[in-house]
Amino acid sequence: MDDTEQLRAEHEALIQFLYLAPVGLVQADIDGGIVMMNPISAQLLMPLSRDGGLDNLFTALESVAPELRHLCSGYAKAAGKICDGLHLHLNAGLPGKKAPQILSLTLLKLDARRLMAVLDDVTVQVRRERQLRQNDAWLNAILTGITDYALVGLDAQGGILEWNESIGRVTGYGADAVGKPYSIFYPPDAMTPEHLLDRLRDAGKDGWNLDEGKRTRADGSGFWGSAMIAPLPEREPPCGAAPEGPAYCLILRDITDKRESSERRRREAFGDYLTGLANRRAFFEAAEQELQRSNAVPRPTAVIAIDADHFKAINDRHGHPGGDCVLQHLAAILGETFREVDVVARIGGEEFAVLLPSTDLPRAAVVAERLRSAVASEVVDFEGARIRYTVSAGVASLADGEGGIDLLLKRADQALYAAKRAGRNRVERWRPELAGAPVHQAQGDRDAA
Ligand code: GH3
Ligand code: MG
Ligand code: MG
Repeated sequence: MDDTEQLRAEHEALIQFLYLAPVGLVQADIDGGIVMMNPISAQLLMPLSRDGGLDNLFTALESVAPELRHLCSGYAKAAGKICDGLHLHLNAGLPGKKAPQILSLTLLKLDARRLMAVLDDVTVQVRRERQLRQNDAWLNAILTGITDYALVGLDAQGGILEWNESIGRVTGYGADAVGKPYSIFYPPDAMTPEHLLDRLRDAGKDGWNLDEGKRTRADGSGFWGSAMIAPLPEREPPCGAAPEGPAYCLILRDITDKRESSERRRREAFGDYLTGLANRRAFFEAAEQELQRSNAVPRPTAVIAIDADHFKAINDRHGHPGGDCVLQHLAAILGETFREVDVVARIGGEEFAVLLPSTDLPRAAVVAERLRSAVASEVVDFEGARIRYTVSAGVASLADGEGGIDLLLKRADQALYAAKRAGRNRVERWRPELAGAPVHQAQGDRDAA
């Protein structure tokens, strides 16, 4: 075999391998230009392509992983893993596509000029992992720190049935806790009445339900706690009598010691590196769960889509670090404006989204307006410069979760687009006339020109 023949044979073998590989493989140049891909990649990427073409990996993934180009150009090493198993949520903004799909992306820098992407559909796996994570946490909750827990009996509506010493020790509550809902152990705006019942229902369905986060004591002080709710077997009441005894038990643990490590883990997977807010992934996971629940037990859910106005001009005038500083400032205002129970996320470069459980359109619009005016009245100090900026917001809500987060975010985006068209620094509500209107994210660049 001469050299060319050898090369051809190797090339042939590589193509064979690419075609047979059970995952998507894409070879690209360092700017994302696609050189070669196997059929699975085409299948996975095609639904994402806005124009039907698949020329550039970064462009193809822009709507689900806007940070990718940035990650790649910022990757200093000569070769290595740029990202490892990054989860991409594909259901976003694809009208008519119901089932959420999650892709895992590993991006390798082969050398100064070449990239290799490995893509895999991990939708089922992720769901299973989530279940496993809960299992782990549950075992952990049972097996460790047994000295430091409160055991609370709850009635069918989540009301506390009786007081015992462990409740007093962990939470500082006395007998006055009896008859109150178990949400008294949570910060005031961390749980809606609907959430309170959701958790009981989930516990009934799955056998138990666990969550971890901020808790409060009777004196208002906070601690980091885990709360597990498990249904109790029904005790037969005497003939004709009302059911007695608790329907659920709640085990509340103070795990302040473990907060550091568990928060770090959460931040790594669900946090946005620049602002510390939830990231895109966290937003879609939370939104999917909330909308599924609101579909089972109807109540309104709202989303506010927020986009900084003329942000390019801020970057141009103050540089990228100046722009970043504004984004951090905006994140801080968002944090102050919304409730603990709302999910505030950065879902793109200068695009944010907030999920408001149990909130209808008028109420969400009021909060959005409060945010808009707070931003407009503030000044950001950056290296001696005083930067003023504004945001536009689009608000939408669904009465019962029908249509899912796809529809809800799409409507919020259509309203946001309308706010931009109407002059920016405004809040617009979604209305049926906007149904056919473009969404901001897809059209924003053109509009800004
Ligand atoms: P509009 O009012 O229509 O929203 O105008 P705009 O200039 O804000 O809109 P456009 O979407 O065209 O520009 C967004 C800019 O945000 C472009 C991009 O360079 C910048 N950007 C995206 N991510 C980041 C980031 O993480 N940091 C900084 N500093 N800038 C970013
Ligand atoms: Mg903008
Ligand atoms: Mg934008």
